[in-house]
Amino acid sequence: MTSPVQQGRDALRAWSANQPENFFAADPYLQAALAAVWGQDRYQEYREELAHLGGAAAALEADVRLNHRNHNLPRLDPWDGLGQPTQPIEHHPSYHRIGTVLYGSGQLRALGEPGHWLYALSLFYLGAHLGEAGHNCPIACTAGVIKALQAVGTPAQQERWLPRLLNTEFGYAYTGAQFLTEVQGGSDVGANGLVARVADDGSYRLFGEKWFCSNAGADLILITARLEGSEPGTRGLGLFLAPRLLDDGQPNHYRIRRLKDKLGTRTMASGEIDFDGTVAEAMGTLDHGFLTAMTQVIHTSRLYNAFACLGYAQRALHLAQGYARHRQAFGQPIIRYPLVQQSLAKMAALVASQRALALHLAALQDEQERGELSPERKAALRVLVNLNKSRNAEHCRAIITEGLSVLGGNGAIESFSPMPRLLRDVVVCENWEGTHNTLYAQTLRDFSARSLHEPTLAHLRELGAGLAPDANRERLTQRLDTLSSNLQDCLNGDAARASLEIKGICRGLADVAAGLCLAREGETWPLFPGAENHPSPALLLSHFLGLGSRAEIDDLSRLEALA
Ligand SMILES: Cc1cc2nc3c(=O)[nH]c(=O)nc-3n(C[C@H](O)[C@H](O)[C@H](O)COP(=O)(O)OP(=O)(O)OC[C@H]3O[C@@H](n4cnc5c(N)ncnc54)[C@H](O)[C@@H]3O)c2cc1C
Repeated sequence: MTSPVQQGRDALRAWSANQPENFFAADPYLQAALAAVWGQDRYQEYREELAHLGGAAAALEADVRLNHRNHNLPRLDPWDGLGQPTQPIEHHPSYHRIGTVLYGSGQLRALGEPGHWLYALSLFYLGAHLGEAGHNCPIACTAGVIKALQAVGTPAQQERWLPRLLNTEFGYAYTGAQFLTEVQGGSDVGANGLVARVADDGSYRLFGEKWFCSNAGADLILITARLEGSEPGTRGLGLFLAPRLLDDGQPNHYRIRRLKDKLGTRTMASGEIDFDGTVAEAMGTLDHGFLTAMTQVIHTSRLYNAFACLGYAQRALHLAQGYARHRQAFGQPIIRYPLVQQSLAKMAALVASQRALALHLAALQDEQERGELSPERKAALRVLVNLNKSRNAEHCRAIITEGLSVLGGNGAIESFSPMPRLLRDVVVCENWEGTHNTLYAQTLRDFSARSLHEPTLAHLRELGAGLAPDANRERLTQRLDTLSSNLQDCLNGDAARASLEIKGICRGLADVAAGLCLAREGETWPLFPGAENHPSPALLLSHFLGLGSRAEIDDLSRLEALA
């Protein structure tokens, strides 16, 4: 006869032992979605590497946990024993083991050819099941440097820097960073004051400080600075590229003042940096500096941000679903309780819909890179990436909080599961690369000054028109019509009022976009072995922001199917 204590611990042990061993294999939705976008041949070509990383990433959990111990966090170590400058940041060996797997997956190498964003971001998403793990932000920043070099770099710059950025050997491969924020302004980038002076040899020297510098030990830094004498505001900002080491191997005249003690993303080093004559090159034409930063660099990191949050949210779903099957309360597994099923249903529906939209955006990005996107669809992509950056992070935070509650008190315990870490990381993701308000304001400007709502709405209508005619299509298109009319009123109204109303419209548009992508993706599930038994998109949509009636949403047999 086992004691109640023993039974309780056995159930937890069974849950702990039944975590997915492969994040890709555990996810038939993702497999079905990728097979549908790429077609079977291309899917088969990539499948092996996705499955390989899915297994390798799942095996890294112990290292991620080890790296997160307070005494193993990154440390500033700028001098060697002889008082000479050295590698500025010291990381625990677990950080290097994780990096070896994530960079070794070839996710950055894939960006060397146009049309591989969906593949690269799918690999990134699998790694993000671990949380930030010290490397998500650096990988996203490196992708931004690659994209900027490809778009506006000179042939000499491309030849010099791209091979090391695309390299898969962690430690040898260069990693990138992007420093915009200063103490006086993050959202208000035009307030930036870091100065660039032209040197005698025609290169630039940077002077001043940056307040938030993630991946502070990066090899190549993209940095905004104001050329002496140029106009104020964002117009006067140039974009520069600065290597960590000069050609002679000496450090490039900047000093990390200190590392920040952060709420989340703790194993990734974010510092405050003083620049004192840092040698830099122009990245593209300097009078387009802010434009290049926004269209190439920040656009890329907003896309990556969504996949990071989604990786965390999907992991929270795995944890909560498994826990609910094993944990007993009042004589039965908690998954039998409709309230727990409702939590899991909401999480599953939100993960599926958010991911469907993110995958759609990555596929559009591929079309853009291959030169296949019309200017209208390019505009829709720009708007949807911004809307999604904000709404996706909000939903993913809600998913993880819900998952934490399914684990009850254990959900709050650091040594019990990755859940607290995932929550801390998602909160950081919500606020960098543009806060919610910044994204609402940018969208309002895009709509009112450039009429970008027109191609965006047209793109969403086109997605709706491609769906099989059913009740979901009807509901989604009705919602889109309502939002479109609210938007017109908002744009015609008073500016201060519009700045408030745009928030609900942005959220609504992002939700409809996710719903449409989910409905479209769901049409492919029955065709994919392993995904055919998943709940229908209709069922998910009825849970996704209550698109169905209350009775439909709380239908007990539906809840059970979803959970
Ligand atoms: C862990 C971490 C790492 C980071 N790493 C980097 C990095 O590597 N490089 C980098 O450049 N930056 C980095 N950042 C900075 C980040 O991008 C900024 O924090 C972010 O852009 C917001 O800027 P801020 O902090 O100055 O907030 P503020 O701009 O001061 O905003 C404060 C509040 O005011 C609101 N607000 C501002 N303007 C408006 C407006 N017009 N209308 C309505 N509300 C408004 C904001 O939404 C926010 O809620 C990092 C941040 C964190 C937390």
